[in-house]
Amino acid sequence: MLKVKSLHTYYGGIHALKSVSFNLPEGEIVTLIGANGAGKSTALMSISGIVPPRYGEITFLGRPIHQMSPDRIFALGVVQVPEGRRIFPLLTVTENLEMGAYLRNDRKGIAQDIDYIFSLFPRLAERRHQTGGTLSGGEQQMLAISRGLMSRPKLLLLDEPSLGLAPVLVQLIFATIEKINRENKTTIFLVEQNANMALRIAHRGYVMESGVITLQDTAANLLNSEKVKQAYLGI
Ligand code: ATP
Repeated sequence: MLKVKSLHTYYGGIHALKSVSFNLPEGEIVTLIGANGAGKSTALMSISGIVPPRYGEITFLGRPIHQMSPDRIFALGVVQVPEGRRIFPLLTVTENLEMGAYLRNDRKGIAQDIDYIFSLFPRLAERRHQTGGTLSGGEQQMLAISRGLMSRPKLLLLDEPSLGLAPVLVQLIFATIEKINRENKTTIFLVEQNANMALRIAHRGYVMESGVITLQDTAANLLNSEKVKQAYLGI
């Protein structure tokens, strides 16, 4: 579905991605794991057009997108849920969800999707009239993912959805990501520092170190790899 080839991305003089290549097959969950500062968020922002690459190619469903603006990439169905749950704090839960559907005009479909989201996250249904800023961190993360789903993405880019959440909520978020992939066939690119949980739900994975992909394999093989165990799983 998405092919990234020899990508180089810079912040001024900082060379953040150094010839990065990877593939996201349709219908799969692919995870990108790595330490702080490895370049994982930069990879997502290069795909979504927020930090365009200086060199290299990105094709989505056969179309080159590496020179497109973020709004055009979004309109093609590539949706990023940024790190840090940037929801609209003064809008209610329902209004935040409606904002996610701003390119759609099928009122009935939008209402159905909101019902579906409330079935995925009953906690959001209970708080539908509450403003985003008054939600807990975990609830804001649920809302950020849900807002991303409201545009019916073909490819969902998730940046560290488990960051700063209590273990029970981390379990819930990962179980729901797996459910979204299974029930809607949404392709998911999951950037995570929680390598253990990410590899358990992913089909395949990539390991990034200092802007370079150093390992790639099925998620099951990466979970059993000595290098991944030592460096990322603390085993
Ligand atoms: P984290 O898990 O901490 O978010 P990451 O793997 O997502 O880390 P990036 O945020 O992509 O890593 O950062 C990759 C490199 O680019 C780092 O060296 C970082 O300091 C640098 N970088 C990121 N954003 C900027 C920026 N806006 N300006 C300058 N340098 C940046």
